[in-house]
Amino acid sequence: MFLTISTTASPAGPATDLGFLLHKHPDRAQTFSTSYGDAHVFYPEATAERTTAALLLEVDPPALVRRGRTKGRGGAPDAALAQYVNDRPYAASSLLAVAMRTVFSSALRGECRNLPERAAAPLPLRVEVPVLPARGGAALVTRLFEPLGWRVETEPVALDPLFPEWGDSRYVRLTLDGELRLSDALRQLYVLLPVLDDSKHYWVSADEVDKLLRFGEGWLADHPEQKLITSRYLSRRWALTRQAMERLELARLADADDIEVEEIDNAVEECGGPDEAEERPTPLAEQRREAILAALHAAGAARVLDLGCGQGQLVAALLKDPRFTEIVGVDVSVRALDMAARRLRLDRMGERQSSRVALLQGSLAYTDTRLKGYDAAVLSEVVEHLDLPRLPALEYAVFGSARPRTVVVTTPNAEYNVRWESLPAGHVRHADHRFEWNRAEFGTWAAAVAARHGYDVAYVPVGPDDPEVGPPTQMAVFTLTTKEAAA
Ligand code: SAH
Repeated sequence: MFLTISTTASPAGPATDLGFLLHKHPDRAQTFSTSYGDAHVFYPEATAERTTAALLLEVDPPALVRRGRTKGRGGAPDAALAQYVNDRPYAASSLLAVAMRTVFSSALRGECRNLPERAAAPLPLRVEVPVLPARGGAALVTRLFEPLGWRVETEPVALDPLFPEWGDSRYVRLTLDGELRLSDALRQLYVLLPVLDDSKHYWVSADEVDKLLRFGEGWLADHPEQKLITSRYLSRRWALTRQAMERLELARLADADDIEVEEIDNAVEECGGPDEAEERPTPLAEQRREAILAALHAAGAARVLDLGCGQGQLVAALLKDPRFTEIVGVDVSVRALDMAARRLRLDRMGERQSSRVALLQGSLAYTDTRLKGYDAAVLSEVVEHLDLPRLPALEYAVFGSARPRTVVVTTPNAEYNVRWESLPAGHVRHADHRFEWNRAEFGTWAAAVAARHGYDVAYVPVGPDDPEVGPPTQMAVFTLTTKEAAA
């Protein structure tokens, strides 16, 4: 099993820097033992113009058999002879991926104490894999690597060069060219080689999901073949595949949040004077939580509902404050609640803490007696996720039925969108936003809701209050009128 990685000289430095980046000296051949045989690293060429590192894994078939994992495709154990005579020694597969991890662990993490700036920057790379099992054909190889920025070349490998009439094998010779960070390239190979082989040499367990997400960071969440990659990497174990896809989706949503955060950082920096510029501005999501906490304190609320709690960031913040004696997060998404439970470490929480918090699944579009009798309810960035025609149902469920003394609602201010540099004109901030209101629209809705249900309403800007377009987040604090509270 064989794989080479080459680079050429660039203005950033000579090609021999590859040795530093891989943590392997170009003048030496080194051998590492793995459970399945020896992995050798050596450099067939190492000049300032062009340097190539080779990883060769000498598979020890008896070791493979001893470890009992040479399964046939479809899960049936191979017949006795096939256990010893198979493609494992030759074809790049999960064994090679494991060898990569053994030999190039620091490079996979992108660590390089000597040349950190080179490790962090893309460099011209060529990867060659002479025998790549291509389950799904050469077209799939291209579909997997091209979206990552590689130019892909595949050459069929004849079943037997002496008998060309036998046709091609299911292996290809793969050449990838591109400008990528070395750690990205290695992490992609680490995941995609076994995906193309589609037959792991070891049993896939739940921690494989963590591994996939770790090595897939930065490229898998947006990959058009994400589902195929995930499913094959996890040996088609459906529960694991689903779990991984859900976590990728959440990572993507969190990334979308980060865009907001970064943009607000920029926005604050722009309006901040020289003194303010020194301090790191607080991200918008955090400013929102602080504004909500302040409103709940001012209302004297102790028992609080977080409606549409998402991944539970606000629930976590409320838990830190002993003034809140009972905190209930509600969401329609089981997946979000799962993430919230994990974030809060609900399963490892002491009894006193866990008696203060609960997570409930439910839809805010329906009245729910479980939500009655609380001091306050928060709808943080939730209303814009409902289709407008569903909003009266939510309004009734919260203000008419649950009817806490205080309701805090936050939502984006659409006018502010022109201030996000990365947001094309006329776009909403998040793909799942069904609408975004300007200040007048939000004000009209809130005033009508307050009037219909006997609340007073006050508006609070969250984030820098731009003189022209207002703040990025608008917040309304509803309080039951004294007459209604007494009733
Ligand atoms: N409150 C969190 C999450 C906002 S995202 C925050 O401020 O960060 C919107 C959340 O509302 C999502 O978690 C979504 O699952 C939830 N949601 C959308 N429609 C809902 C409904 N009808 N009932 C309950 N939750 C809903």
